[in-house]
Amino acid sequence: MAATVETGVTVVRNPASGDEVGRVPQAGPDEAAAAVARAAAAFPGWWDTPAAARGAVVRAGAEAVLAQRDELALQLTLEQGKPLREARIEITRFVHTIEHYAGLAKSLRGAYVPSLDERTHGLVVKRPLGVVVAIVPWNFPTTLLGNKLGPALVCGNTIVAKPAESTPLTTLRIAELMREAGLPEGVFQVVTGKGSVLGEALVGDPRVAKIAFTGSTPVGKHVAELAARGVKRVTLELGGSDPMIVLDDADVDAAVSAASVGRFFNCGQACLAVKRLYVHERVADEFVEKLTTKAAKLKLGAGTADGTMLGPLHSEPQRETLEGQVSDTLEQGGELLAGGRRPDGDGLAAGWFYEPTLILEPPHDSRVAVEEVFGPALPIWRVRGLDEAIERANASRFGLGSSIWTRDLTAATIAAEKLEAGYTWINSGQIVYDELPFGGFGESGLGKEHGNEALDHYQESKAVVVRQSPR
Ligand code: NAP
Ligand code: MG
Repeated sequence: MAATVETGVTVVRNPASGDEVGRVPQAGPDEAAAAVARAAAAFPGWWDTPAAARGAVVRAGAEAVLAQRDELALQLTLEQGKPLREARIEITRFVHTIEHYAGLAKSLRGAYVPSLDERTHGLVVKRPLGVVVAIVPWNFPTTLLGNKLGPALVCGNTIVAKPAESTPLTTLRIAELMREAGLPEGVFQVVTGKGSVLGEALVGDPRVAKIAFTGSTPVGKHVAELAARGVKRVTLELGGSDPMIVLDDADVDAAVSAASVGRFFNCGQACLAVKRLYVHERVADEFVEKLTTKAAKLKLGAGTADGTMLGPLHSEPQRETLEGQVSDTLEQGGELLAGGRRPDGDGLAAGWFYEPTLILEPPHDSRVAVEEVFGPALPIWRVRGLDEAIERANASRFGLGSSIWTRDLTAATIAAEKLEAGYTWINSGQIVYDELPFGGFGESGLGKEHGNEALDHYQESKAVVVRQSPR
């Protein structure tokens, strides 16, 4: 943790043009401590609020956000870079998640355990943890916040959110709207600043009970180490390198569309993006030809421009990392089928644009095969069948999502059992359901978001033993 207070301002810039789109304070350790103090002060009152009332005010907050969806989507596009259509989807998803957990408020339950002993029964009491810190990256600034905010608030915790340094604006506006809709002071706050300073101060604060972190695997490991010093609860949603398997009996057109959306949505900057593609050799030529044609049709442009399908990468370092991964890989082998360079279209020079890129059969130890590729570049390999596909798919330290495309339900069932990943889609992809638990295996994370399972990560179970006096 830095010893000095960071003062100053962060200038937020549009990834498509470099233009300034806003300024926010760069908070340091003192502001972090003040926010945690307010959250700690608000906690007892929020905990005492009946769960149904908490749910009602959280739902009112979600409705207030939905009413401003277009304004928020534009803000999100300007700071993040994604096409407006995708920004609208993101805000809608945020609202649905919050509403989902608001709806569960009335179903929070403990347990009654009869006959533990003579005249003795037990209770399992669920209670909130206290102050939760939510640390969120820039790729989906609002949905990744909503995944934490919904269950945390409904269970009675208060929350301090730290958005990525480069995407604070939409988050600040959401907090303002939810406060106006009735969330009490101190229950949900946002502090803006650098993760290396502000994030560390928040994680290290002894009054913080839990850290819900989404971001890269290296930073997640570091946050977990810091949290361990205070035996704090952590949820980690980290990097991924999701495999997609296409067998020879698959609906090829549907699978091609899914691969394209899966890799190029949000300019490839999704934890759940399709990052490794394994196609049965009998359909590989057809598949590759169709995917290459589709990739060539993706219209690049600013997120605010009409018809844009692929926006810029979020930042210059993001593009540089991707360029390094692609060029190092191609030096080792593989055939470049599309892209592999910056585009030279009108108005694209000022942003962090990169062409949709497909690489056929790069070495299995190349960077695009073993690292997380957080941009629009996809490696494709031919496989001889299901066993080889599963073996390749599992040869990764990540284990977030995965998918298989086949009409053979037996093959799909085997894949669903054997794939080392927290999520497996069969003939589907990318959609994360509030009803189902989401979270990575291996170095992709710890704990779950979404589903009823998320509630377990924002409550502590306490045992109570009740012995009746003899009568
Ligand atoms: P990152 O560098 O790890 O940053 C994530 C967040 O952590 C940001 O708010 C960042 O703040 C903060 N941070 C940085 N250093 C910190 C520190 N020392 N202590 C506390 N907080 C710190 O992640 P990213 O590269 O920007 O985001 C993309 C990554 O997120 C990818 O790996 C992606 O797969 C992963 N992701 C995972 C999921 C999932 O659900 N599994 C979902 C989406 C994304 P600053 O911005 O100020 O540095
Ligand atoms: Mg970072």
